[in-house]
Amino acid sequence: MNFNLSDSLIQKIELDLPYQFYVKRDDLLHPLISGNKWRKLKHNLMAAKADDRSILVTKGGNYSNHIYATAAAGKVFNFETIGFIRGEKVDNATLRFAAEQGMHLIFCSRSDFRNINSDTIQMYLKDVDFSKIYFLPEGGTNESALQGTSEIIDEVARQLPNLDWSQTVFAAAVGTGGTFAGMINGAAGRGNLLGIAVLKGNFLEKEVALLCDNTLNNWKINNDYHWGGYAKWTPELIAFIREVEAAYQVPLEPVYTAKLFYGLFELMQKRLIKEGSTIIAVHTGGLQGRIGFTEQHGVQF
Ligand SMILES: *Cc1c(COP(=O)(O)O)cnc(C)c1O
Repeated sequence: MNFNLSDSLIQKIELDLPYQFYVKRDDLLHPLISGNKWRKLKHNLMAAKADDRSILVTKGGNYSNHIYATAAAGKVFNFETIGFIRGEKVDNATLRFAAEQGMHLIFCSRSDFRNINSDTIQMYLKDVDFSKIYFLPEGGTNESALQGTSEIIDEVARQLPNLDWSQTVFAAAVGTGGTFAGMINGAAGRGNLLGIAVLKGNFLEKEVALLCDNTLNNWKINNDYHWGGYAKWTPELIAFIREVEAAYQVPLEPVYTAKLFYGLFELMQKRLIKEGSTIIAVHTGGLQGRIGFTEQHGVQF
C-alpha cells in the first residue's frame, strides 16, 4: 500500500509589505485526510500495516480534527477505527462524518478519557482483538508523527530551490507542539522557525523543547495570539478569516490557522519579523471544523 500523497501546493501571496510570503497548502493534501493530521498519521499507518495491526484506536474531543482525519484514513487505507470521545454523547458534523467513515465512537467520562489503557479499552470493548490494535494518542503526537511533519521542510526546500535559508522563517500554529517540533527537526538547524501558540499559558515552549531535538535552538514560540485560549475567538477573528479568503483565496478556520495568519500579518505590519525575510506559513488544514463552528455559533464563513 502506498502512503505517499502528492506534495502540497506552495502558494505565493503578494503583500504590500517588505516580505516574501508563501503558504504551504497542506489543507489541500487530501480532500478528507487534511493538513498536519495526515502528516502525523502517515508513518503511524505505515508502522501499523508493517506490524499487521488492523485496528486504529484513538481519542479526542467533539470537534477533533485528529478524530476526523483518523476516521477518514481508516476508510481510505483499510483499517478499523475506534474513537474514544470525551464526555457525554453529542451529535455534530465532525462526529457524524467519523461515524460515516466507519469509526466506532465511544463516549466516555473525562476520567476514563484521561487514562485510556488496555483496561479501559477492555471495559468498553469486550471482544476486541488486542493484538490488532495500534494506539494513536490524542492529537496524534508521537515519534512517528514528528517524522511526518519533519518532511514538510524538505518538501518546501524542493519546491523553492533558491531559498536563502538565513532569511527564511517557517511558521505554524502550535497545539500539542508535535507539528512544530517535527518541523524543527526537519529544518535541522537551517533557517528560523516561529510557532504561534493557540493555547494560553506560556507552556508550549517547554512542550516543544521536550519533543524536538534539543541541540536545535533556531526556533521560538509567540504567545500573543491565542485570543484567550484554545478555540476562543472574537468577531474580529472571523472578519479576518473573511478578509484573507476574499483577498488571497486562502480559507482559514478560527481554532488554529486564523490565529497563525493573524499573528504573522500583525508581526509583519509591525516589522517585528526581520524585514526582507521569506516567511513560509504552513496551512495545517482543519477546515472541517468550520462546519461544526457554524453549527455551534451560527457564524458563516
Ligand atoms: C491539530 C492541529 C494543529 C496543531 O498541531 P499540533 O501538532 O498539535 O501542535 C494545528 N492546526 C490544525 C489545523 C490542527 O488540526
